[in-house]
Amino acid sequence: MTDIPVTIGENALEPLLQFCNDRGLTDFMLVADKNTFPVLGKKVEASLQGGGLNVKSVVFSEPAVVPDEDFIFQVLLRADQVERTYLAVGSGTITDITRIVSHRTRCKFISLPTAPSVDGFTSPSASLVVRRIKTTVMAQPPMAVFADLGTLAAAPQAMIAAGYGDILGKAIALADWQLGHLLWDEPYSPEIAMRVRKTLEACISATSEIGQATPDGIRKLMFSLIDSGKCMLDFGNSRPAAGCEHYMAHFLEMKLLREGRPAVLHGAKVGLCSLQAAELYGRLRQLDRAQAVTRLAEATQPERAADMQRIRQAFGPIAENLFVEQAPFLDMNAADFGLLKQRILEHWDGIQALAAEVPTRDKLADLFSQAGGAIQPAGLGLSDEEVQQALTESHFLRNRFTICKLGRSLGLLDGL
Ligand SMILES: [Zn+2]
Repeated sequence: MTDIPVTIGENALEPLLQFCNDRGLTDFMLVADKNTFPVLGKKVEASLQGGGLNVKSVVFSEPAVVPDEDFIFQVLLRADQVERTYLAVGSGTITDITRIVSHRTRCKFISLPTAPSVDGFTSPSASLVVRRIKTTVMAQPPMAVFADLGTLAAAPQAMIAAGYGDILGKAIALADWQLGHLLWDEPYSPEIAMRVRKTLEACISATSEIGQATPDGIRKLMFSLIDSGKCMLDFGNSRPAAGCEHYMAHFLEMKLLREGRPAVLHGAKVGLCSLQAAELYGRLRQLDRAQAVTRLAEATQPERAADMQRIRQAFGPIAENLFVEQAPFLDMNAADFGLLKQRILEHWDGIQALAAEVPTRDKLADLFSQAGGAIQPAGLGLSDEEVQQALTESHFLRNRFTICKLGRSLGLLDGL
């Protein structure tokens, strides 16, 4: 199991100073923005300087921080000959900027989250925007995480709701992962799946506390986010914690970026997209074996040329990369497709059992709105059609089996 020391407490600054002293860390580069510096960065800087340590700070003044060349370069410009430990004071975006710069300058970094907004703090990969295209780049996990509970609880409710949405998505991710295991031979770990399920259940049982941002609710949410991140790290990729709800969110994120529209918090999109995916699982539950046999007999193999055209239309500049990613699906011949259909029937009971674990759409919507999340696309500045398109097109982003892939063979997406 991954051993990244994590401290979540009323005062995370003392343990941070202790940690730095214990490891003989003396020089730091703190990265923050105009929101996170006043709420936490300033205190961190003062605390370490008060302890006789050397701290240089980069504070972004822009109203919105994007993990792109511009911001990465601002941090790189401040780098000097001194070997420094980077301090990421912020949520996911600042953490990812710091993750990549520290890694590429052969330094380490410590994460100091300012909002419980995402499960990526402990991730080894950075989610960046390179030439206006969202890209995931391998870098490094933090050497430690120090989460200051007071700062987290005072974060904007929209960010707290986004963290909750990122966890709520595990209800879909876990079911999709099992589908991938049964139908597409994807590696699966029951132990890690169980750990992810615990993060989900812990958050669901603390929904109203999280909605009210009580210290206890925020502590539980942050624990779940950190644990979920560790599950991905232990498994070696994001599969345990990301299914079609994440691909849908990525699809929307790329669309907003291409169209120059304001970004929407990752977890807010994940929570919303989980509702759509839950609807598909609901439709799956309503099918009995006889109906599945009929539908599969009628199902025709998607045409390669037509799928490639859809990928070009939906993804524009990255279409060529997706042809490679999707090759296992695009290259299926009639015999392969027949085998897949056969496999779906062979595993029908298992498929129904995993679908039974997915909460209904209404249940997820109720939970997410209690936590302050938007349950309608308009609440995030998106249209119904865009979310619909995410449901039908986003599965082209990954060579992983999800309810959307299964839905194509069983007609679950028809008439949505
Ligand atoms: Zn996520």
